Amino acid sequence: MHRNSIIEINQKAYQNNLAFLKKMLGKKVIFSSVVKGNAYGHGIKEFVTMAYQNGVNHFSVFDVEEAKIVFETLGNNATIMIMGFVADDDLHWVIENEIQFFVFERYRLASATKTAKKLKRKAKIHIEIETGMNRTGFAKRELANLSKYLIKESKHLDFVGICTHYAGAESISNYMRVESQIKKFNEAIEIFKFYRIEPKIKHTACSAASMMFPETQMDLVRIGILQYGLWPSPEVLVTYLNTKKKKIDPLQRVISWKSEIMNVKRVKSGEFIGYGTSYMAKENMKIATIPLGYSHGYSRSLSNQGRVLIDGKRCAVIGTINMNMLTIDVSEIDHIKKGDEVVIIGNQGDLSITVASFGEINNVLNYEFLSRISKTIPRKIIE
Ligand SMILES: *Cc1c(COP(=O)(O)O)cnc(C)c1O
Repeated sequence: MHRNSIIEINQKAYQNNLAFLKKMLGKKVIFSSVVKGNAYGHGIKEFVTMAYQNGVNHFSVFDVEEAKIVFETLGNNATIMIMGFVADDDLHWVIENEIQFFVFERYRLASATKTAKKLKRKAKIHIEIETGMNRTGFAKRELANLSKYLIKESKHLDFVGICTHYAGAESISNYMRVESQIKKFNEAIEIFKFYRIEPKIKHTACSAASMMFPETQMDLVRIGILQYGLWPSPEVLVTYLNTKKKKIDPLQRVISWKSEIMNVKRVKSGEFIGYGTSYMAKENMKIATIPLGYSHGYSRSLSNQGRVLIDGKRCAVIGTINMNMLTIDVSEIDHIKKGDEVVIIGNQGDLSITVASFGEINNVLNYEFLSRISKTIPRKIIE
């Protein structure tokens, strides 16, 4: 574990977001908390512990590694659904522990049947349908045979769900494509019905789809970014606000990232600061280093661009971001010393640094920035 910084997870903010989502979602819709990418940087173990204490008991992950962390943390109390990769060697563990998983190829269907038979357990599968994203999923022409197979192997395969994923529901520019995906998904359901086989649940929506296309909520929603208090895109926020009298963001950011000053020094006018010549002091300056760099997820492309909060003031990152350190201009701050708090994401005094601000400077989506925050930084839940 690093001592260089801390990620704080704000439970009150999370409760606020859950309450908002509950209101937005239909009453019977199952809420699946998407915790891939180390719970979008929040720390998967700490995050699922907190979510579970607040009544969430369904979690979606990308792969077996993440499923194992959720399983070790919550045991059989939670439903775990793998939306992505299951290596052949892991199938045994997955089925044995009743972990649910997406199936998008015949090969996996056959290997799941075989393993389930051996274990005398049913494999809990979600059939993923190709509706236009063109990533993973069964094509329409495969569904007739698939239906027959599922009926034939129903002793070994538990047909829990049918699902798909939209190719960019967060942007109006993809409107037609998403509409066509919804249509194709409904056609797929009809094919299964025709063969008299029905999954327990249907699910398609991520955060953006559940807001922009409420009909996609169906029986379960897979919500990532919104539960963390962030919007999939500015468009989704604006679309939501347009339906409301009060134009206030109903969500609260859950994450804060804080570090401390490790050194303060003075630099004379005309000197270069850090590697190379990307920053020259134009006057006598006071600078501070903090023990964070690109290896911790503070992107090098924020060199000479990033901002942090120190002493309630916004301060500029100067010079290139190093692997483990970065340098801040603190000329304007009178009393500054080693150990003083530095806010990377979060509030200090009246100011705040948002996650979205990283996206604006750097053209990185909320998602990418968050998921790159090093796993080795400690996470702490605060009230
Ligand atoms: C990541 C992911 C989600 C959640 O997306 P958000 O935009 O964060 O809500 C839902 N479904 C699938 C298949 C995903 O990969």
